[in-house]
Amino acid sequence: MINETLTMIPGPTPVHPRILAALARPTVSHVAPAFVEEFRAALVDLRTLCQSATAQPFIVAGSGTLAMEIALVNLAAPGERILVISQGYFGDRFAELAAAFGIHCDLVRSEWGHAVAPAEVAQRLSGNSYTAVTMTHVDTATGTAAPVEAYCELLRGRDELVILDGVCATGGIDERFDQWGLDVLLTGPQKAIGAPPGVALCLFSERALERRRARSSVPAYYADILRWLPIMQDPGRYFATPCVNEIVALAAALRIVHEEGLPARFARHDRISRAFRAGLEALGLALFTAPDCRAATLSVVLLPDGVADAALRKEIAARGVVVAGGLGPIAGKAFRLGHMGNIGAGEVATVLTAIEGSLRALGVSAKPGAAVAAASSILSGK
Ligand code: PMP
Repeated sequence: MINETLTMIPGPTPVHPRILAALARPTVSHVAPAFVEEFRAALVDLRTLCQSATAQPFIVAGSGTLAMEIALVNLAAPGERILVISQGYFGDRFAELAAAFGIHCDLVRSEWGHAVAPAEVAQRLSGNSYTAVTMTHVDTATGTAAPVEAYCELLRGRDELVILDGVCATGGIDERFDQWGLDVLLTGPQKAIGAPPGVALCLFSERALERRRARSSVPAYYADILRWLPIMQDPGRYFATPCVNEIVALAAALRIVHEEGLPARFARHDRISRAFRAGLEALGLALFTAPDCRAATLSVVLLPDGVADAALRKEIAARGVVVAGGLGPIAGKAFRLGHMGNIGAGEVATVLTAIEGSLRALGVSAKPGAAVAAASSILSGK
């Protein structure tokens, strides 16, 4: 495509033309019946995506960080203590949020590129009690997928509320709200759901709503879920103007998610991630994340010796593909390739070809066609 780039960062991800067309529909009143119906459909489809029969969905203008804040500020009060399980940059953000609200925090952290072992969580939980435990399904800085189901098993039957950040997972990796016993699943539209950014998404269990109701107030106004609850139960009501176009686009994105079906969608993410990794390895590239915890939604790729981060990403961009740089301790040492949302074999081939050409341009020997051949053998199931 002329003057079009393929955005392959770990969010925002490419937005399907059907979703873009929905975004471009005329802005209407937030109480127009047709909009209210779209809003209602988005709420129902979000709950289905999170595999819950009864949890309360919330869709509020903002970003994933607002969804994190909504979870924390409604469920933990200043002076109370939470446990934060962190695999890196975005896990640590919960600790920063807690500090901003005077909530005490115990942090159990892994080395970057590894997941926190459930045994470490078990150790923290024994003899301690917390208001809530936060977990990050996929840390977008490190490419690590956490063993969330195993953490949840440890929390079964306990009083701690279970808060899961699914921003870099929801829509691409299985997440079972009811079965795992989650209390909040918070997420964003701009990653594996494939919609444009602009809304904070979360689901609250009945237990979590009860805990909020038991508090007379929380240190928030816009982020107080009790102000939003009537709107989420009847989207024709008003509290603060919803982002009409983004919600219509989200509804279109969620329709696509359910047309594909969750098992097929998760299997596609798994297949595409394996195809990308086979292709990257065929180019002699190594991955940063430990093999036992690599997320299906992105890959963190180590730079070959002698190749500078900026130079490589510039070459890749010159071939029409945008990838992201490393964050924190791996800045300048790795690049991050998003492979989630509404992408398929075409994107795999385009991206691998762009990386291969870029490496050659920088003097790294890369066998022409080797990456795409390795990826295709996985995509075709051979
Ligand atoms: N959590 C995770 C795992 C993320 O990847 C991100 C965004 N990269 C966030 C939270 C924050 O979301 P946002 O940038 O939309 O505020």
